[in-house]
Amino acid sequence: MQRCVVVGRRCPSSSSAIIEKNEREKKKKCSRRFRRSSTVVGNNNDNDDDGRRRNQINLKANERANERRKQAVIELSKREEACKGYCNLCGKTHTLERTREAEEVAKALLEKLRKQKSVSDEDESGQFLVEDVYDQRTGGKMIGVLLCETTTTTTTTNTSERKVLKAFSGQWMGEWVVPGWCPPLARLTHDSLEYIEEREKIEKLSEEIKKLEKEASWSSSGSSGTAATAVTELKTKRKNMSRALLERIWDSYSLPSFRKERKMSEGDDDDNSDNSNSSSIRSSSDIKNNRRKLVELNIRKCYYGDASKLPCGCGDCAAPKLLAECARKGWKPIAIAETWMGPNVKRGAGLREEGVFYGACLERCRPILGHMLCDAALELE
Ligand SMILES: [Zn+2]
Ligand SMILES: [Zn+2]
Repeated sequence: MQRCVVVGRRCPSSSSAIIEKNEREKKKKCSRRFRRSSTVVGNNNDNDDDGRRRNQINLKANERANERRKQAVIELSKREEACKGYCNLCGKTHTLERTREAEEVAKALLEKLRKQKSVSDEDESGQFLVEDVYDQRTGGKMIGVLLCETTTTTTTTNTSERKVLKAFSGQWMGEWVVPGWCPPLARLTHDSLEYIEEREKIEKLSEEIKKLEKEASWSSSGSSGTAATAVTELKTKRKNMSRALLERIWDSYSLPSFRKERKMSEGDDDDNSDNSNSSSIRSSSDIKNNRRKLVELNIRKCYYGDASKLPCGCGDCAAPKLLAECARKGWKPIAIAETWMGPNVKRGAGLREEGVFYGACLERCRPILGHMLCDAALELE
């Protein structure tokens, strides 16, 4: 898995890593605050009892939160809850169900993958090993299939054909792109040149900070004060650069819906348009005789909720990748199925069991699926 320079640790996704770092810092501050308050009051037995009671209350609150999450997972696992979200544009909730047929296709995919060496359709280099997904410590992946329909029109006939798309959530063992699987929705990922260059700059700052800190610890008190000021300044600079990088990552998420708008004029096909444009409307080159454009929006524009607080990994799950690919190909989505592949997860928030079907998540998927499913039920033109 990719080690993120910004936080210097393994990260499930580049954007998540930066946000997670901020969350960790917040938690550290909280625990420091808690320790301080414990020290002040922790000098007699009464207060020890208070601490124990507080811990018990916290444990119970955690148990209740886990139970609520468990119930939410069970609720979202219902077939009719598989993929849905509120659409700001229509003021309606759009839904795509999980059908038995989709479940069968997902099960068959799981079986097929388990018999293969690599999860990639084209690669046998050992880069995408199936056995990695079954690693007890780091393995496990949500995979999804989307049953789609496409029509071939000739002057006399109209033929429908079934297609299947497959996607995994997040990265596959550190890789965003795996042959045969739907690509990520973010243009800026850890393997993009833009990200790598920015990452190098942040790495250099980290080295400089380390050097200065070392120097300060050896020098006299006068010069160590100057070094400390320089370290603080550099740390602020690094923090701002990390934040700016995170913003650029969010800027690069482009989400299509099945809604189409008429082209403004002839010849304004913008297949080469930059996805980072926050409200870009991109034409799909895959739609034959297409006289309309797909509506693509930046993730902040289609997120139902407070877009300034996009959750980590929003747009990286299997469902949004599947719908985006389907819309860009000009196909119609028929049904979806998402299941877990790998070791079972028993943690309260996780609760994943191989072969069991799950619905798109509440925090990251539902707020964007309303936009992505808009006009998905319309017949193909
Ligand atoms: Zn999700
Ligand atoms: Zn809509």
